[in-house]
Amino acid sequence: MTGKLVREKVEREEEERLAPYAIHSRDSRGRAWPEKEHEARTAFQRDRDRIIHSTAFRRLQYKTQVFVNHEGDHYRTRLTHTLETCQIARTIGRALGLNEDLIEAISLAHDLGHGPFGHAGEWALSEIMKGHGGFEHNIQSLRIVEALEESYPEFSGLNLTYEVREGLKKHPEKFRGTSERRFRSAEAEVVDLSDEIAYSCHDLDDGLRAQMIPEEELEKLTFWKEMQAYIRNKYPRINETHKNRLAIRLLINRLVMDLVKATRQHLKKLGVKSAKDIQKVKGPLVLFSPPLAKRKVELRRFLHTHLYQHYRVVRMTEKGKRFIQRVFQAYLEKPGQLPSPVRKRVEKDGLYRAICDYISGMTDRYVQNEYKRLFEPYERV
Ligand code: MG
Repeated sequence: MTGKLVREKVEREEEERLAPYAIHSRDSRGRAWPEKEHEARTAFQRDRDRIIHSTAFRRLQYKTQVFVNHEGDHYRTRLTHTLETCQIARTIGRALGLNEDLIEAISLAHDLGHGPFGHAGEWALSEIMKGHGGFEHNIQSLRIVEALEESYPEFSGLNLTYEVREGLKKHPEKFRGTSERRFRSAEAEVVDLSDEIAYSCHDLDDGLRAQMIPEEELEKLTFWKEMQAYIRNKYPRINETHKNRLAIRLLINRLVMDLVKATRQHLKKLGVKSAKDIQKVKGPLVLFSPPLAKRKVELRRFLHTHLYQHYRVVRMTEKGKRFIQRVFQAYLEKPGQLPSPVRKRVEKDGLYRAICDYISGMTDRYVQNEYKRLFEPYERV
C-alpha cells in the first residue's frame, strides 16, 4: 500500500469508527500556510508529531508543575503532567468515539506556554507585563505554535491545523477581543477537563508523597472517605504506600468514568448529530455529573488550602518569582545583555514582549543559571 493510500484508509476508518459529532481528519479546515497532505499521516497525526519534535515540548521536562525540579525526582514535572493529561484524555475520547489524534495533539501542546516555576512564573510575568500586553500561559501556548517555534524555512511556528489551534484556547474568555475559540469541539473540551483530572489527582499524590497533606483534614474530604471505605473493605491489611497509590488510581478512574457517562447522556440529550451541530450548542459539551462536579470542587478547594498554600510550596513559589523578576529587570535595564536572536526580536516585538517570550521559554534550571551568570561576580557569562 502506498503512503497516500495509508492516510486515506485511516480517514475512511474514521468515518466508520468515530461518533457523528467527532471531528474527522479529512474535514480539517487546514493550515494558515497551505501544505500538501502527508502521505501516511492524517492532518492531526502530523500536528501531534510536530509538537513532539518542537523545542518547547522538550523544555517541559525541566519546568515545574507544583514541586520545583530539584526538590525530588518523583514529583510531576510539566512534561509528565502533559503525558498524564494526554493519556486520560485519550481514554475518555476513545470511549466517546472522538478523534484521538486531535485529542493527542491538543493535550501535548496545552501547556507549552507555561513559564519556568509553574504558576509562580505566570504570576511574575503577568505582573511585569501589565500595560505591555499581559501574559497568560494559554495565550502563550498558542503564540509558541503560531509564531515562536523556528524549525521550518517556509513559516514561523508549527503551522498546525485550525482545529488544534482553536483547541488550545482554554478559558475562551481570556482570548476575547483577540481570538476567542471560534470553533468548538468535544475533543478540545475533553482535554480541558482531563487536564483538571490529571492535576487534581497527581498534585494530591505528590502532596501525600511530600507528607504535606494533613491526615485529619484529608479524612474529611468526601472523595477520600469513599475511597478509604472501599479500600478498607477490599484490602483490610493494605500498607500505607499501596493504600495511597490505590486511592489515587480509584479517584482518577471514578472521575474518568463519570465524565464519560455524563457526557454521553448529555450529548444524547442535546441531540447533536454532527460537528456542525456542536457549534450551535450553548454551555458545555463535556461535563461531570452534578454529584461528582461537587466533589471535584471540594477537592480543588482542599488542594488550594492544604497544598498550594503550604509554607514549603509558598517558599518555592516566592523564590521562583524572585528569579524571574530580577532577571527580567536586568535585561530591561541593559538590553545589551540579551543574546543576539532575542535582540533581533526586540526590533520586531518591542523590548517587554521579547524579554517575556525569552524568559517564559526558559526552564527552571535555565533561569537559575542565567541568574547566576548575571549576578554572581565569579560566574562565567
Ligand atoms: Mg495543564
